[in-house]
Amino acid sequence: MAQDTYWGSFEEISKYNVQLNYAEKLWLAWYTYMQNDVLATGIMSFVMHETVYFGRSLPWIIVDMIPWFRRYKIQQDKIPTAWEQWQCALLVLFSHFTVELPQIWLFHPMCQYFGLSTGVPFPSIYTMAYQIAIFFVLEDTWHYWTHRVMHWGPLYKNIHKIHHQYSAPFGLAAEYASPIEVMVLGLGTVGSPILYCAITGDLHILTMYIWIVLRLFQAIDAHSGYEFPWSLHHFLPFWAGAEHHDVHHEKFIGNYASSFRWWDYCLDTEAGAEASKKRREKKLAAAKKKAL
Ligand SMILES: [Zn+2]
Ligand SMILES: [Zn+2]
Repeated sequence: MAQDTYWGSFEEISKYNVQLNYAEKLWLAWYTYMQNDVLATGIMSFVMHETVYFGRSLPWIIVDMIPWFRRYKIQQDKIPTAWEQWQCALLVLFSHFTVELPQIWLFHPMCQYFGLSTGVPFPSIYTMAYQIAIFFVLEDTWHYWTHRVMHWGPLYKNIHKIHHQYSAPFGLAAEYASPIEVMVLGLGTVGSPILYCAITGDLHILTMYIWIVLRLFQAIDAHSGYEFPWSLHHFLPFWAGAEHHDVHHEKFIGNYASSFRWWDYCLDTEAGAEASKKRREKKLAAAKKKAL
């Protein structure tokens, strides 16, 4: 039987669906081959997450081993050791397999419940781009507030402290956190598209995947510990990037947002020497005004 293998079913699909592009054929063949949508979506999500997480962290591990890159390291005296990175990778893997893996059973039913489409053809690049832009804004807002709340004493001590074990972060440390924190912050990543779909009724699961991949890139790069002259925030001043989040780990306070700088800027929670100086000057000016 041709459909017994993935490529067999790909051939069959290609024969009868000439109007589809290559990626769409791969996609349809996967669902046809699996014969079980819940498993097909679940396995694809899990494999994608692991591949992107460790695949994106690997270049940063290599960068840490090359002394030439030290000039771009934000906290120059704190280079993570191989042992530290290994320990971190183990904990992240452990939590992926214990906390996240069981959830793959819920992913497809949840998407179906909220009306996400899984079929072909795919939405246009334009549709995906503007939807993903909306998700970035929504997630950043969720992240800012929940992260800020997690810095409140009891929550910090019991939940968020684990993530702050590394005062100089590195790529792999992006998801080094308590399972509760992973779920709360993950709700912003998964919940933003779900909310969007609940309101508009228009979202493809592929758009959700691409969004999650980009969000993973954002989180890992923000933890990389490196700031380059070509880093994105030099071109997009409202983009947070590594410089923004590194200071958060160093100072334990301020810079709570994930992707953008506007929440911290508007609510005066920016971290770092420059922001403290600005705050001091403001206070001084106010005191002077009062004295007059
Ligand atoms: Zn924090
Ligand atoms: Zn962090």
